Amino acid sequence: MPNGQWKTSTRKATLPTGWDKIRRRILTRDNHTCYKCGNHATHVDHVANSAAGGDDSDANLAAICFDCHQTKSSAEGGRAAQARKPKRTRPAEAHPGIVR
Ligand SMILES: [Zn+2]
Repeated sequence: MPNGQWKTSTRKATLPTGWDKIRRRILTRDNHTCYKCGNHATHVDHVANSAAGGDDSDANLAAICFDCHQTKSSAEGGRAAQARKPKRTRPAEAHPGIVR
């Protein structure tokens, strides 16, 4: 990845120290097999992400292929964006045409 890209991403800071080693260990443990589809895995996934209370323990890490990781991560990002949306603060008003 060229320098400067992902400058605003905090992803790297949130990954545990020695992530590269951990990643390689998990891929070897799982025989480079995606835990979702069974294809060749090159990524390691946090099965429960940090927003869901997942940690960096081996039990929460699993080998995953690029496609499944992308699908899962974008779904998680979509849910997070939904959660950040401001909630409606004013109660719904009665329709002006309804006389009570
Ligand atoms: Zn997969």
